[in-house]
Amino acid sequence: MFGFARDEEVPRLVSVETTSHCNAKCVFCPNNALARDKGPMEQDLFEKIIEDCREFRLEAIEPFLQGDPFSDPKILERLEHIRRRLPDTKLRLYTNGFGMSPKKIDAMVGLGMDHLYVSVNTLDPKKYKDVMGLSLERTLENLAYLTEPGRRGRVAKHVTFRMTRLGDTTLAEQDDFTRYCEERGVESLIVGLFNYKGDIKSDLPVPSYGCEHVARLDILATGKITLCCMDQDGAYGWGNLRELSVLEAYRHPAARRYRELHRTGKRREVDPCGTCNNHWPGFHGLSPLDAARAGLEYCAYVARYRPNGRKAPHGTPDSDDALVQLQSKHAAAGAAAKAGREAAKNA
Ligand code: SF4
Repeated sequence: MFGFARDEEVPRLVSVETTSHCNAKCVFCPNNALARDKGPMEQDLFEKIIEDCREFRLEAIEPFLQGDPFSDPKILERLEHIRRRLPDTKLRLYTNGFGMSPKKIDAMVGLGMDHLYVSVNTLDPKKYKDVMGLSLERTLENLAYLTEPGRRGRVAKHVTFRMTRLGDTTLAEQDDFTRYCEERGVESLIVGLFNYKGDIKSDLPVPSYGCEHVARLDILATGKITLCCMDQDGAYGWGNLRELSVLEAYRHPAARRYRELHRTGKRREVDPCGTCNNHWPGFHGLSPLDAARAGLEYCAYVARYRPNGRKAPHGTPDSDDALVQLQSKHAAAGAAAKAGREAAKNA
């Protein structure tokens, strides 16, 4: 079925932003500060990218990046398209769950989704409203429908609810969240905040090992390539999928340079990775020896700094100060982007 590329230099994951719109306004998310116009990906571009992915054995695809997939009116059609054209590729979706109505959940039954992640963040209605700008009641109704025993496993093989731990997140709140996930029969994941490529102050250092993002290809709704989800407008990207195939984009000299520097322990020498404390490690394409070394460095980092999990590290980035700093940065960037767009329209 696949015309596999001979060279094994292929992305482990392709992430396609089918829309940059989001129904939430999470205080920690750069979607609030996009400098570009928001909108969906054109269908011809989406289909072209999926066809490109048939040229090699793609391990996983995520049709999402900065927006929420359920803010894309075509998301169900696009999920079906991916499943039809890439039947052997793992399909993963991330959402806040607010727009994932029972009707849409029913439409996902039998699609063969591998992993569905829902970003819930808190079970406190007021805090949910403050942090995400949405009504918790509706999200919980959707999640109750999703996780009914006869339905949960037919929508996705794995379902994970995720909480981003903020400065004021208490241990009791985290325990409530874990209990809620157990009751609903889903996995739970509690994560801390990164420093957004160094945009906010953080005491957690930049890891020495390579980051997992350099072995994937992230594509914005316009087709522009972006370094990673921290690079929300593609400022560090290197081309457009309108002109390049997925493999050409992944094998571009700029992409290879990032991979090489991360692989050889020089991540701290390249911008913006040299100031980014995203700690998820990358093993793709490493020799067994390099992978073992990266694994040991990762374990040492997690043991020492506890970037994820129930017990927060001391200091930032989980402090309120860091969050306030991030919010004001997003507010300023959002206002500047809006002013720029209006000036361009009036020019
Ligand atoms: S280190 Fe940070 S900025 Fe660099 S690719 Fe990874 S997530 Fe992106």
